[in-house]
Amino acid sequence: MEKIERPPISELSSLKKIKKNWEQWGIELKQYQESEGKEGQRFSWREGCYKDLRLALYDLTDGHCSFCDGFPIGETSLEPIEHYYPKADFPLIAYQWENLFYCCDKCNSEANKTKFEYTLKPDDLDYIFKSYFYFDASSGKLEILENLEIDAPEKYQKAKKFLKRYGINNPKRNIARIHLMNDIKNFIKANSKEDKRGRNDFKYRYIYDYLLRLLIKNK
Ligand SMILES: [Zn+2]
Repeated sequence: MEKIERPPISELSSLKKIKKNWEQWGIELKQYQESEGKEGQRFSWREGCYKDLRLALYDLTDGHCSFCDGFPIGETSLEPIEHYYPKADFPLIAYQWENLFYCCDKCNSEANKTKFEYTLKPDDLDYIFKSYFYFDASSGKLEILENLEIDAPEKYQKAKKFLKRYGINNPKRNIARIHLMNDIKNFIKANSKEDKRGRNDFKYRYIYDYLLRLLIKNK
């Protein structure tokens, strides 16, 4: 999960409609949920704002999932936009710019499985990846810094809940990360002029950073 620098919505001309209406739409959604019971969970993005939102959110992460840093899965992706505070429990902020994140299908479905608990948020002002996590190359897991549990138990709990909420260390993902690590290693070693890819073209950019650090260290 990379840190996200989120510009205020007033700076994004493509989101004018959202800026103007998000509060009213939230009120209407709440009323709808209350009047329709279970049926009231149906949600729509209103007035075609989905596309503009998704594009604006894409720009914040260079197309990486805000939570796992993977990519939405190809053409079969539902291209979800994640409500950090779930829309079922927090309808009033269901259209609020600050509550919305570019997300992959997997993280989106994992987050929907459990009851909401506040975890880390990638646009938290004081969030920095390396003050919480490191990549463990032998297991493929994203691990929490060992000292946090004792030194900063609150931070530790937030990080732990984050990993759980988005299923970050599910076994399949760990294996995928080990494979990817080998691909990136080959890419960096080859240092080919024809291969125009860069850091942002890879999933899980913390693996890229990890390998670069390793390379520099071993020079
Ligand atoms: Zn994800």
